[in-house]
Amino acid sequence: MNLQQSSLSKNALKKLLKQQKWEESRQERKAAQKEKDKKKKLEKKKAVELGLIPPPIKKPKPNQITSNLRVVIDLSFDSMMTDTEITSVSSQLTRCYSANRSTSHAVNLFFTSYGQRIQNRFDTKIQSHINWKDVVFDTKSYLERFDKDDLVYLTADATDVIDELDENKVYIIGGIVDKNRHKNLCYDKAKKENIATAQLPIEKCIKMTTRKVLAINHV
Ligand code: SAH
Repeated sequence: MNLQQSSLSKNALKKLLKQQKWEESRQERKAAQKEKDKKKKLEKKKAVELGLIPPPIKKPKPNQITSNLRVVIDLSFDSMMTDTEITSVSSQLTRCYSANRSTSHAVNLFFTSYGQRIQNRFDTKIQSHINWKDVVFDTKSYLERFDKDDLVYLTADATDVIDELDENKVYIIGGIVDKNRHKNLCYDKAKKENIATAQLPIEKCIKMTTRKVLAINHV
């Protein structure tokens, strides 16, 4: 019994020593791998230079032109949405941001009336927004930030159709996902606030079988 016990602990000790040795050689192994990677990279570079393999395809970065155009996403509808819709709005905002970062013609982006559940979603689930550049998160309404005469609320319910964007104007997009539950919501809000409204020329450009109401990031 004693013999068996001592042989078992001998095995365990052997295992422990082996593990220790492995741990101690970690730095050496890391350096060896680094050297190996470096050699591989150099060999690949040489092969490209000799025309043996094609060069790696680089994703072209767009030559971005930042226009003076200001686009507001109005987030004042927080309490009118279900939790799922709040999640959808938040991911549409993320898409707006990344599309604007990679487009050739960027706009100045503002998320106004930011707060409540959308802010909570950003703080807890998205988080990467703390590193976002070129977008203003504002807890205030667009009315407090911009001149009323410059504002144009984009809504599918407007009678005026715009064909061109005016760089002196501030275009507002309603930050809401409602599956058309709230008809005329943004139109009525803009009228109440005495703000101009306009719809995009969807009928001229896209064939849509249902209503011509787009998602935030598509606008
Ligand atoms: N029931 C909402 C619809 C939300 S769609 C409403 O009352 O508008 C999200 C936003 O996209 C809208 O608030 C609007 O600003 C914009 N939008 C969608 N389709 C549009 C269109 N055809 N023309 C202009 N703006 C549009």
